[in-house]
Amino acid sequence: MNDADCIFCKIAAGQIPSTKIAETERVLAFRDLHPKAPSHVLVIPKDHYANATELAASDPALAGDVLAAAAEVAVAEGIADSGWRLIANSGPDSGQDVFHVHFHVLGGKPLGPMVS
Ligand code: IMP
Repeated sequence: MNDADCIFCKIAAGQIPSTKIAETERVLAFRDLHPKAPSHVLVIPKDHYANATELAASDPALAGDVLAAAAEVAVAEGIADSGWRLIANSGPDSGQDVFHVHFHVLGGKPLGPMVS
């Protein structure tokens, strides 16, 4: 599954450059272009799902693979012990900007309250 107009589909296909952190057959992790913390990595399924709701309903095994990859990224970034945050904005109230499901892995500093 792929959406021709989706920027993260293009990153997954290598048509737009990214700083890759980890990659498997179905999952890609790459640095966020505008980091909100010293470590800010996005973890995506390569297949196109609009948000976490759609991914979990359509392919729960893939959702699990994405979660496992996020935890591996936290270890690789050296933030697993100090603490890290996993966020998937999903839908209008969340402020989601890119409608290809992605999980933000954030850490490397005290992150403060989760919701303002
Ligand atoms: P959202 O608000 O949860 O949808 O987050 C979208 C994220 O994608 C933001 O943190 C952006 O900085 C990030 N982003 C947008 N375009 C790119 C890109 O081309 N490469 C890497 N990160 C991107």
